[in-house]
Amino acid sequence: MTNQFNTKNYDYLVVGAGPFGMTFAYEAAKRGKRSLVIEKRAFIGGNTHTHTEEGITVHDFGAHIFHTDNKEVWDYVRQFAEFNGFQNQVIANYKGDLYNLPFNMNTFYQMWGTKTPDEAKAKIEEQKAAALSELGDRQPRNLEEQAISLIGTDIYQKLIKGYTEKQWGRKATELPAFIIKRLPVRFIYDNNYFNHRYQGIPVGGYTQIFEKMIERSNGLIDVMTDTDFFEHREVLMDEFPRILYTGMIDQFFDYKFGELEYRSLRFESETKNSDNYQGNAVINYTDAQTPYTRVMEWRHFDGLADEGKTIITKEYPQDWDRSKEAYYPVNNERNTEIYKQYAKEARQNHPEVIFGGRLGKYRYFDMDQVFNDAFNTVRDEFKVDDQFNFAHDTVD
Ligand code: UDP
Repeated sequence: MTNQFNTKNYDYLVVGAGPFGMTFAYEAAKRGKRSLVIEKRAFIGGNTHTHTEEGITVHDFGAHIFHTDNKEVWDYVRQFAEFNGFQNQVIANYKGDLYNLPFNMNTFYQMWGTKTPDEAKAKIEEQKAAALSELGDRQPRNLEEQAISLIGTDIYQKLIKGYTEKQWGRKATELPAFIIKRLPVRFIYDNNYFNHRYQGIPVGGYTQIFEKMIERSNGLIDVMTDTDFFEHREVLMDEFPRILYTGMIDQFFDYKFGELEYRSLRFESETKNSDNYQGNAVINYTDAQTPYTRVMEWRHFDGLADEGKTIITKEYPQDWDRSKEAYYPVNNERNTEIYKQYAKEARQNHPEVIFGGRLGKYRYFDMDQVFNDAFNTVRDEFKVDDQFNFAHDTVD
C-alpha cells in the first residue's frame, strides 16, 4: 500500500507536538533516528504554546511558569531559550479583599492579624480541631479535609473552596487531597508560589524551544500540523513500527473501559490601552460567583512589553467533552481505576506504543516532570544512562 506518511522510513511516529513528544523526537534525532511528528492542532508546543503580540508574549493556554528542583531539566531547557527568573507571586481577590498566595505569614496576617508563626499555627490548630474533630490520626480523605487540616477553615472558605469548586466543577469533598498539596503552606513571609530552586519563563516564549529542537535535529524531525492521528489511524499503525503517543489514552483504546474525565478551560483575552492594568501577573478570584478563576496580565511575566498596551486574559474553567481540549486529568478513584485498565491493556497488547505526557499517562504533570519523564523514556528506549544537559552538541 502506498502511503502519504512513512515516505522517509521514519523510525518513530510521534503523535502530538507537545513537550513530551518533541523532547523524545529531538533526543531520538541526536541518536540518529528519524521521527515524523503529527499534531492535530495548527501549531507546535501543545498547551505551552505562546505567541507575541504588541511586543507581549502571550501564553495561549494559560500561564506556564517553569519551576523545578531538577538541575538536569533546568540545564536542558536553557539550551533552547534564556529564562528570565520570573517568580510567581499571586494575589487572591475574595469579594474585593486582597490576600497573598500561597498560604504564608502575609496571608495569615491579612486573614487574622497574627504576626508570629506560633500565633498563626495556634489559629490553624484551633480551626482544624473544631472542624475535623473526628479526623484523629487518619489521613485526610479528600481535598476539603486536606485543606482544613493544613490551613484551617477561614482560609479554606475564602481562598480555596470557591476557587477549587469552580476550577474542577465538583465539590471539594469529591476531589483528591493531593491537588491542594501543590500549593506551599509556609510560616515565613514569602509570597513565592513555588518552592522550587529554579524558576522562570523563557524570554520570547516557549514555542522557540520546540522550533529549535526541529532546527537542531538536522532534518531528522519532520512535523505535520493539522493532522489528526485518528483520521489516519489504520495506515499509521500499519506503517510505523514504533509510535510515541501523547494524546488521551482512553481515546486511543476507543474508550473501551469507559471515558476518563478531564477538565477543560476557556480563555478570553483583551488588549487595553494601559501600561499596567491590574498591577500583577496573576490575580485569582476565589469566590464561587465570579465565573473565571484568574486573570493574567502578560506584560508582567517578562517586563519586555512596549509602552501603552497591555493584554489580559481571563481563565474560565469549563466541563470537558469530546469537542473540547482536555487540560487536566481528574485523578479521583474512579478515573484512576479506569486508567489502570488502559495502562494494562497498553502494556499487554501494544508494546510498540509508548504513552507519555499529561494525557497519555493521565497525570497532573508539571512541565518539568514532563521533560524528566521524556528523559526516562529515552533512557529506556535507547538502553542508555545518558545525562541530558548540553545535549545538542552531539547532534551530527
Ligand atoms: N487553589 C485554590 N485557590 C487558589 C489557587 C489554587 O484553592 O487561589 C487550589 C485549587 O484546588 C487548584 C489547586 O490549588 O486546583 C492547584 O492550584 P495550581 O495553581 O497549582 O493549579 P494550576 O496552575 O495547575 O491550574
